[in-house]
Amino acid sequence: MAGKKLSDLTIGVLALQGDFREHLHALQQLGAVALPVKTAEEISRVDALIIPGGESTTISKLLRLFNLFDLLKTRIHEGLPVYGSCAGMIMLASAIDDPASGQECLGAIDIRVKRNAFGRQVDSFESDLDIAGITGEPVRAIFIRAPWVESAGAKVDILASVLIEGKCHPVAVRQGSAMATSFHPELTGDLRIHRYFLEELVGVEI
Ligand code: GLN
Repeated sequence: MAGKKLSDLTIGVLALQGDFREHLHALQQLGAVALPVKTAEEISRVDALIIPGGESTTISKLLRLFNLFDLLKTRIHEGLPVYGSCAGMIMLASAIDDPASGQECLGAIDIRVKRNAFGRQVDSFESDLDIAGITGEPVRAIFIRAPWVESAGAKVDILASVLIEGKCHPVAVRQGSAMATSFHPELTGDLRIHRYFLEELVGVEI
């Protein structure tokens, strides 16, 4: 997609549940045409897609209920650039450690994730992270009932990890045109992660 102009593209944000408005806002601040995505027609026509934070079980079940799951999976496997934050990371994984009954994931990134890995709601926390490919100050990362990556395949690049009780847990990963973060850059006003997605995965200059 290199050489494409951002203004010629439509960047979707899956808008079935979760904090999609914050992602739409971040994309708009970078000058993107940002579209809340709820239908098959919208999934078919976006040039890239963000899956927001929220509740991965609900997002998975709504995708099935509205008959969108297989279409989205096909588009991703055909190379649609995708970025998932928090619940979105779980959706993009190839396996879930502790899935809720009926919960499915899209298999865009060869990772096994552990849901609510850091503990329950009260254990949500913030941390300053060094992230490969992001220059300048460390990124302030907000984790809310976040997953982490339990294991990753050889084709997965680990972009950032956190150290918890002496063990390193990946919280930002990329595989080809798919990336995911355990945390929520859409909540901080720091646009560098969204910019990275648009520049490096979608292939536009901003
Ligand atoms: N714990 C949620 C889940 O399993 C994710 C939380 C979030 O997206 N902030 O889907």
